[in-house]
Amino acid sequence: MTAPASLPEPADRPATRVRGGAHRAAGRGPVTAPAPAAPGSRRARREAEAARLRAARRPRRAPVAAAGALGVAVLVLPITVPALQAVAAADRERADVAATALVVAQEEEGRAARAAEVRRLADEAAASREQRAADTAAREAAEAELASRVAAAGAMADRVSRSEERSALPGCSGVLPDGTTSAPNGQLPADAVCALWDDEGLRADVALSFVELSAAFEERFGERLALTDGYRSLAEQHAVAAERPGFAAEPGTSDHGWGLAVDLGSGVSTGSGERYAWMREHAPSFGWENPTWAQPGGSGPTEPWHWEHVEGVAAQTGVPAA
Ligand SMILES: [Zn+2]
Repeated sequence: MTAPASLPEPADRPATRVRGGAHRAAGRGPVTAPAPAAPGSRRARREAEAARLRAARRPRRAPVAAAGALGVAVLVLPITVPALQAVAAADRERADVAATALVVAQEEEGRAARAAEVRRLADEAAASREQRAADTAAREAAEAELASRVAAAGAMADRVSRSEERSALPGCSGVLPDGTTSAPNGQLPADAVCALWDDEGLRADVALSFVELSAAFEERFGERLALTDGYRSLAEQHAVAAERPGFAAEPGTSDHGWGLAVDLGSGVSTGSGERYAWMREHAPSFGWENPTWAQPGGSGPTEPWHWEHVEGVAAQTGVPAA
């Protein structure tokens, strides 16, 4: 490698020429050494003083280490200062970035908090709506339940009212099944006979009126009408005829066989007294009577205990009530 021609002369080249004026005058053309001044002359003193001043101005040679440190400093400073400046700028930039990031983070945090608050409020609103909907549904269900109960109570009241009007007899519809009136005496369909009490029964369409009569009797005398006989099947008619010959009607002809007659106890069967008189007075208004033939002094066997449903018997036998 060859140094370029313009490279300045190294500073540490040994000075072979006269320092000072000779060196500085190098660019002014050829140097011609002046004639030595005469010792002790003004010129000689002037030159000596000039040399002294030059010597005083000449930089003192620093130790090599100091010169090296200075050189390092001189070399490093131009690098260090901009580097330090760059570091400072980078620090400022980092600080700015950090500050910006902090602001962004704070804004982000704020947005997240606001979003969370919005979500919370929305959740509360939704929960509130759900609660209101549930409350409404519960209220409507309660109202429907209440309406249902009111309707049921009304229907029950209607049923009770109707039952009271005709005197309730549980399990008795009061309606005759089709074909009942054409069934033979003593052979009524089972569902055409309503059970009363004392193990007795009556045809369904007259049973309720007898219950009402008994209720009226009970209201007056404190006990219902005691039954000794009611509907009598054909087999039972035969049994009675066998046990008490001449007492009961011929089997297959008894009004008991139609389910339209009862034999009573309760003090009525004597044919006299307050209870019998009460029955004679009030039973007809319920459709029942002690037939004239059975009354004391009547045309038939005296049976004051025997009471019949007048219209029922007339319709069934075709014989008008006497
Ligand atoms: Zn009888």
